[in-house]
Amino acid sequence: MTARAAKARREKAPALGAFRRIVVKVGSALLVDSKAGALRRAWLEALVDDLAAHHTRGADILVVSSGSIALGRSVLQLPRGALKLEDSQAAAAVGQIALAHVWSEAFRRHGMTAGQILVTFGDTEERRRYLNARATIERLLEMRATPVINENDTVATHEIRYGDNDRLAARVAAMASADCLVLLSDVDGLYTAPPASDPNARHIPIVPRVTAEIEAMAGGAVSELSRGGMTTKIEAAKIATTAGVHMAIADGRVDHPLKRISEGGRCTWFLTPSNPVTARKKWIAGSLEPKGVVRVDAGAAQALANGKSLLPAGVTAVEGGFARGDCVLIRNADGGEIGRGLIAYDAIEAMRIMGRSSRDIEKLLGYAGRAAMIHRDDMALGGA
Ligand code: GLU
Repeated sequence: MTARAAKARREKAPALGAFRRIVVKVGSALLVDSKAGALRRAWLEALVDDLAAHHTRGADILVVSSGSIALGRSVLQLPRGALKLEDSQAAAAVGQIALAHVWSEAFRRHGMTAGQILVTFGDTEERRRYLNARATIERLLEMRATPVINENDTVATHEIRYGDNDRLAARVAAMASADCLVLLSDVDGLYTAPPASDPNARHIPIVPRVTAEIEAMAGGAVSELSRGGMTTKIEAAKIATTAGVHMAIADGRVDHPLKRISEGGRCTWFLTPSNPVTARKKWIAGSLEPKGVVRVDAGAAQALANGKSLLPAGVTAVEGGFARGDCVLIRNADGGEIGRGLIAYDAIEAMRIMGRSSRDIEKLLGYAGRAAMIHRDDMALGGA
């Protein structure tokens, strides 16, 4: 057993009942019966029973709910198969009303109030709008209301949309400074290989860090029905854990899925290593469109872990066409993502100064730039 595997075995699954702010993401397949196109109301009410129990003990609850397109397409009797963008937008417009109504009613049974928030990609990527959305969420939670959130599919275009609520939910969890995110899905977690086709596939209960190895387990398996969507879930895990949020992937097909997690039901926990993360770093952590990659050597990786800035000397490769101020991924020698940060140089400049001492920057670029390629205040560390 490797040292990492031994450590993973020692790590304990967190207790759901100990979290103070929980985001629960509910997938379309759980909410809407695909054959009948009808809402699975009894299941939803059982889930809301679980949410209400956490609310009663004092936790804040946020729901990220999919299902608007699935519901709307059945109301509008759209054909099966992939929808054209305009059709899915029309379906979302019809379905979202029904969806919001159902959540609102289900919470009302417990004396709880729901508030709908529809966000676009730009609302979370642009810092000023992000801060606005965050303030609204915070105010709702102060008033003990429950935000029910979805992407604003009716106005999103192909180029600028999340498309999946896994990453949206992770972004929301970071935005709301939640300490836990649960992705309810039709799988009970991450496996070492596709479980449907590989009898030796092992379920992984705890992932202490999203390493390159973990990313590889999800990648390449998107065609496997049993692990469909695992790639976006691992992306979500990276965003969440880098922002100080523990994340679980759990089976939502059972009634009372949160109660089941608390009772030790099978799921995969992705643990956040973070100490308290500043709000600015959470925003960086959740950036969905990193524009490039810098690879760093082992010495630099260690320095970053010790809270230092990234100097050009520790950078071994630069990829992508980023501009100064863009968000880039920081990868270690194994290719594992160790964090994200706002870079102080354009890609061409970064290539010129990588591997060199900061003292040489002026000579290489013709002006005295910053000593750090990524300053530690502009960096959020997470993974490998
Ligand atoms: N926002 C989409 C909807 O409500 C769902 C996206 C997803 O299922 O991840 O229909």
